[in-house]
Amino acid sequence: MQPQPNKIYFNDYDSRVSIVVSNRQNRPITKPDDPCPFCPGGLEFVDSNGCYFFKNRFPAMGNESCEVVVFSPDHNRNIFELPAEHVEKIIRLWIERTQYFIDTKTMKYVLIFENNGAEVGATISHPHGQIYAFNFVPQVPKNELSNAGCRFCNKADPRLIISDTQMFETSVVQAASYPFELIIRAKEHLSSLVDLSNIQIKDLVISLLLSLKAIAFQFTTPMPYMMWIHQGPFNNEQEVSGHLHIHICGIYRSEKTMRFIAAGELGSGVMFNPIDPYDAADMLRTNISK
Ligand SMILES: [Zn+2]
Ligand SMILES: [Zn+2]
Ligand SMILES: [Zn+2]
Repeated sequence: MQPQPNKIYFNDYDSRVSIVVSNRQNRPITKPDDPCPFCPGGLEFVDSNGCYFFKNRFPAMGNESCEVVVFSPDHNRNIFELPAEHVEKIIRLWIERTQYFIDTKTMKYVLIFENNGAEVGATISHPHGQIYAFNFVPQVPKNELSNAGCRFCNKADPRLIISDTQMFETSVVQAASYPFELIIRAKEHLSSLVDLSNIQIKDLVISLLLSLKAIAFQFTTPMPYMMWIHQGPFNNEQEVSGHLHIHICGIYRSEKTMRFIAAGELGSGVMFNPIDPYDAADMLRTNISK
């Protein structure tokens, strides 16, 4: 049977978009004893320079627009536990895949992301991320674009900054959804990963490693996180240019305790943050200097 295109729904009373992904209900939930599909010899393994991608067999959208990026052959190492030279390979693969989707001329948005840890829904424990390419600009990045002027060109409040490299600045989000929520922003107005120079790529490696370590090592148990890259949009008529930045949300509010976004928050759009962002910045800064 030919795969059917996924249905897409738009609410007329708010800006929500929902894609029905019933095919994903059949995707395997691997048990600890199952052979890992991403390890050398596994079903999806690609012999490469150490990180590789493949088209998702259980795509959330058309198979062409959903890819999986496996960060390394090592089943137990997260991005923040890999050496800088290796993290550079991952960023270069993200750049290559972004360029691939730009070249399709039909894709308008390329979202690179990682769900780190079973608590945020990673069904395979081998560290990996995903890429979704959209033929429209999704609402969340669109909201950031529609602001007059580019807010991301502005320096963050220095008391919220936890890491400041030559070309990237990481700060705690002031009106945050999660207590440990960061943005890494390019200091220069670069629209996307494909605009990075070699020096900027190396600097992003440093910045990404520092930021992820600060989140992961906040508690004695490594804190799972969600990470996504905002860039582009691409192939758009209006020529609006976004400003490259990376969001990282640690999902604990205290040791092993998940922060849930609850009814009062979903119902109002107002977040109730248990930790003051300025205190969170102090804590995360300490993790970096350790
Ligand atoms: Zn594995
Ligand atoms: Zn900007
Ligand atoms: Zn953003």
